[in-house]
This record gives sequence, C-alpha cells and structure tokens, in this order.
Amino acid sequence: VARKRFGQHFLADAGVIDAIVREIAPRAGDPMVEIGPGLAALTQPLVERLGRLTVVELDRDLAARLRQHPQLEVVEADVLKVDFSALAERLGAAKLRVVGNLPYNISSPILFHLLQHVGRVADQHFMLQKEVIDRMVARPATSDYGRLSVMLQWRYAMENVLFVPPDAFDPPPRVDSAVVRMVPFADPPQVDEALLSQLVQVAFSQRRKILRHTLGPWLEQKGFAGDFDVQRRAEEVPVAEYLAIAQSLRP
Ligand code: SAM
Repeated sequence: VARKRFGQHFLADAGVIDAIVREIAPRAGDPMVEIGPGLAALTQPLVERLGRLTVVELDRDLAARLRQHPQLEVVEADVLKVDFSALAERLGAAKLRVVGNLPYNISSPILFHLLQHVGRVADQHFMLQKEVIDRMVARPATSDYGRLSVMLQWRYAMENVLFVPPDAFDPPPRVDSAVVRMVPFADPPQVDEALLSQLVQVAFSQRRKILRHTLGPWLEQKGFAGDFDVQRRAEEVPVAEYLAIAQSLRP
C-alpha cells in the first residue's frame, strides 16, 4: 500500500520506464545514486546495466525489500540529510550521477539540497511535477520564469526530456509529470548563493510591479552603484543580469 506522506506513486508503465532509462543512458560502472527507489521500477533496469547502484530510501519496509538485492547498496535515510559529497568520496567517485522519481511534496528542498553538492554531481535526471519543470527551464518574459528558474539556471543546463501522464503511475498523481535532465556547468559565475537567493526573492516578491518599487530600495540599501534599469518587471531581467548584480554586491 502506497504511503501518502512519503509521496509514493509507483511507476507502472513499462514503456515510460524504458523511455526514462534511455534518457539516463546508464553505462556499466557509472557511479549512480537513485533517490526514492520504492518498489524498484527504475532500480531494476538501471542496476542491470550498471552492475551496482546506491539507493536512498526513507520507507523502512521498502528499504528492507531492497536490501534483498545483492547489487544494491541501500542507504535508509531522508535524502535531505544525505551528504552527497561524502557519499561520492566513499564510493571513490569524482562525480555522481543522481536519478529519481522524486516525492513531489519535497522536490524543491531536494533540488536545493543537491545544489549544495553540485561540485560532486555529473548529472541529474528527475521525475517531477511538470509544472515545476516548466518553472525550472522557463525563459525570461514568461509567467513561469521566477526564483526557481534563476537559482537553477545559474548552475545547470536543463531540459525537459519526457512528458509523463498520471496513468503511468500507481496510484496516479493528480498532476502531469515530466523528466528533467540537469547538467552542472563546469565554470559557473562565482556568486554568493544566499545573496542571490535574497535578491531574486525581493525581485519576484511582487512580480507584477516594476522593480523600482521592490528591488530599487533594496539595492539602494545594499549600496549598489551599478547600472540597472528598474523600469522593468522581475520577469524581464535575464539570469545573467541577476548574477552580475549579485556579484557586484558585498554579502
Ligand atoms: N522510484 C519509484 C518508482 O518510480 O516507482 C518510487 C517513486 S515515489 C514517487 C517516491 C519514493 O521516494 C518512495 O519510494 C518514497 O518512499 C521515497 N521517499 C519519500 N520521501 C523520501 C525522503 N525524504 N528520502 C528518501 N526517500 C523518500
């Protein structure tokens, strides 16, 4: 029986499972970690190709089942408490490949948690609510463009690689899903994350207003001296410009 509090929706469509595994393109020996393996719908085809796989599962009963599988290393834990850098170290991997059909109720916290370990990540493939992926990959001047777009497009090249309808799951979620590929940039602009986060938070706090009324006073208070057109709305400012402002401020 699926546990609602753990966001359990198990993949049940063989065609969709195949398509996801094709997008991940696992190769023997890849150091991979799967978040929330559940009943092993993705785990099984992945580990067949990889040879071994580390999985992070919070549900004690599911973790016990997964431990029966000799090629799996089961970490029974809350993924938000897993130190992925230490895990990479322990697995002797410079960088990890991270995958998962994530529990949707904590997808943003998981994305921001992994952002803390981005230097030890080769790539990420996640099933998420389609609406969340739309916001992650959104371009400026669209209604989906916001805090999530800026914070993640700073560090990752991202694309929506697969649409997945509710009936691919058991039980079906109430929303459409999709799979996103995230590849960290090798050489991202050096920006203080907390400062950038604060900046976009202020900018998008009232997204219909022009920035003169929202970001303007904040920038003034921070002693910002650069050139910045505040006669725009937050969604009209490209990621690179937010990064440039954050770089010019003292944390
Ligand atoms: N991968 C399976 C599939 O596709 O059929 C299950 C996906 S289900 C959407 C999410 C899985 O994440 C469940 O197995 C759930 O128990 C697990 N989970 C939920 N919260 C978690 C957490 N904080 N840390 C690790 N796993 C978690």
